[in-house]
Amino acid sequence: MSDKYWVGFDLGGTKMLATVFDSEFKPCGRERKKTKGHAGSETGVVRISKTIRDALADAEIDVGQVAGIGVGFAGPLDLEKGVLFEAPNLGWTDVPLKDLLENDFACPVVVANDVDAGVFGEYKFGAARGARCAIGIFPGTGIGGGCVYNGTILSGKNRSCMEIGHIEVNPAGPRCGCGQIGCLEAVASRLAVAAAAAQAVYRGQAPALMKIAGSDLSNIRSGALAQAIEEGDSVIETFLRTAARHVGVAIATVVHLLAPDIVVLGGGLVEALPALYVETATAAANERVLPSFVDTFQVKAAELGDDATVTGAAAWANAVVGTA
Ligand SMILES: [Zn+2]
Repeated sequence: MSDKYWVGFDLGGTKMLATVFDSEFKPCGRERKKTKGHAGSETGVVRISKTIRDALADAEIDVGQVAGIGVGFAGPLDLEKGVLFEAPNLGWTDVPLKDLLENDFACPVVVANDVDAGVFGEYKFGAARGARCAIGIFPGTGIGGGCVYNGTILSGKNRSCMEIGHIEVNPAGPRCGCGQIGCLEAVASRLAVAAAAAQAVYRGQAPALMKIAGSDLSNIRSGALAQAIEEGDSVIETFLRTAARHVGVAIATVVHLLAPDIVVLGGGLVEALPALYVETATAAANERVLPSFVDTFQVKAAELGDDATVTGAAAWANAVVGTA
């Protein structure tokens, strides 16, 4: 019973996931809840605490056995103080989550950006194990990015960085959610690909996808896109390859700046079509980099899936707090 356990917490816009890990980082209990739009921060923090306690109950672990809690948060935050600046889906501003959880659980709490935590998870246990410089790129509704350099999450002074989704890749491109024109995520996110696919269905250019998902954007998920390509919708494959090429162009920029040895691509679209996506992005990146950088980096599909953030957050807490 003297074993220590670590808790990873993934606080996303629509879901929260807590996972308990043993000292070898094997998962031994978990709990998932929806992130509902409660008004007021206390309700949200109570909900987070309850999710962690339910995961501990699932693992049959006492609160006193927890060595530390790592939280990956999908929004702007103060890394040092562990304050969440904005969590619109929870109706929050300026929540001192680190202090609140430390008081509640009487153990150290480390708060990180969720994508950074995910890349750290891939670095410790997934596709980027042993990398000197690991870059993670996760195309979803937007495109998240993170970097683990020499075993540490690369960050600015008290702020998360690697906003790769807002690298300009097409000056004539559409307007991004951030207000600028031609950002990577405006042309290559899963949402951008799905929106183009919905138009193609509407125009009668994607008969397989029409049968699988129809033209309603909310039904056009990664699996449906993959199945449509398999069933011969060449226009959908073109959209996917175009998106992956844009990601490759962004990778080339990152290669020039940081010379990563491993670039991990994750998210539902990459998981549904790993070979197609990785090969296309690799080729585009190699076409674009200076000759001395060609083939100096490996592009790989992520291995931890939805568990990347909880695993990485727990491991990052362990790295920051130490095992003492
Ligand atoms: Zn942008």
